Amino acid sequence: MRHDALGAAPAAALAYRLADSVTETAQREAGGVRVGILGAGQLGQMLALAGIPLGMRFTFFSPTQSESAEAVGDVVIGEYDDAAALRSFASSVDVVTYEFENVSSDAVTEIEQVCPVWPPRAALVTSQDRGLEKQQFEQLGIPVAPYRLVGSLADLETAVRDVGMPGILKTRRFGYDGKGQTRIAARSEAEAAWNALGPAPLVYEGLVEFERELSVIAVRSRDGTTHCYPVAENRHRDGILRTSLAPADHLTDAKRHQAEGYARALLGAFGYVGVFAIEMFDTAAGLIVNEMAPRVHNSGHWTIEGAETSQFENHVRAVCGLPLGDCAPVGYSAMFNLIGQHPDSARVLAVPDVHLHLYGKSERAGRKLGHVTVRSRSREDLQRHAEALRAIPSIV
Ligand code: AMP
Repeated sequence: MRHDALGAAPAAALAYRLADSVTETAQREAGGVRVGILGAGQLGQMLALAGIPLGMRFTFFSPTQSESAEAVGDVVIGEYDDAAALRSFASSVDVVTYEFENVSSDAVTEIEQVCPVWPPRAALVTSQDRGLEKQQFEQLGIPVAPYRLVGSLADLETAVRDVGMPGILKTRRFGYDGKGQTRIAARSEAEAAWNALGPAPLVYEGLVEFERELSVIAVRSRDGTTHCYPVAENRHRDGILRTSLAPADHLTDAKRHQAEGYARALLGAFGYVGVFAIEMFDTAAGLIVNEMAPRVHNSGHWTIEGAETSQFENHVRAVCGLPLGDCAPVGYSAMFNLIGQHPDSARVLAVPDVHLHLYGKSERAGRKLGHVTVRSRSREDLQRHAEALRAIPSIV
């Protein structure tokens, strides 16, 4: 289903701003609620797969064609700085959300003239800048790694002296999956690091000695009801998430409460609606928050089978003004990303307790092509089946 030409705006579009629940208005009309999604990757695909059974229909806005999105909805091709295209897209749907955080805030402002956009723009803008993000965390008393903002080589030299080494220099904007960052272990490396990433706005932060990486995913509805999923333990390689285990093993109640408290504080501060994730380092001295994502998150894919209500369903419920579902875990889950190469599906599916998700993308080094979740009744079963899965080539 492709729509290169953009449709005309329905006259009633603005009325949806006034409705408490977009579903109230839209469900009276044929075809159910239309959810617009900025971006057309696998997160959009999984949002649609969760919303379609609830009577929702999906339209994606993306600069390029996407096989992931085409399988589950209409795709409108347009540039994120094309105001007319954005408005036309917005007037063909009841509510808009986004599946990645590099959407420009101007695009969101444009769409807001026509229909509601959730999560709120403030959360998007903050998540786009590691500097703003850290300042927001600090304002709420959320611990972060020691850091300094860097705008010049002189700033970097001062930052390295103040924060110490080793450390990581990161671009403040447009970094993802470990891209746009470089480690500094000696003062002599500062200049090369600056030349590699500057003159963009940067942040230098101390290297945290962590025991493991954790994330917490939370969801907030329009009436402020907030639920948290169990904390997940995440393993990365080359800056890319490989595996998530949930619920995280051996997590103290104190750390769980801390993680949930951080998520709740941020959601409240933003007046947030939708699913939200924070990534943390688990250290001997407590949790340190690394970053936030104002969207469904890769470390929450296990919730499709491993929780009463998936992160994807809860996100579309929240943005459409519907009650949230239970975030309680169902058994024990391990999620494995499929990166670069597809595995042999028959071998994967022969492993007990396994659920395979392929996003319809072609193979390319470093590309997330799908994921596999093992969801078992006990940790022992989980371990056994996860080991069987790991023996298959191209699975981590
Ligand atoms: P990020 O792009 O900030 O999510 O970083 C990608 C990965 O790099 C993280 O998941 C960590 O494994 C690692 N990393 C980032 N920042 C730090 C830090 N300050 N200390 C230690 N490891 C880090």
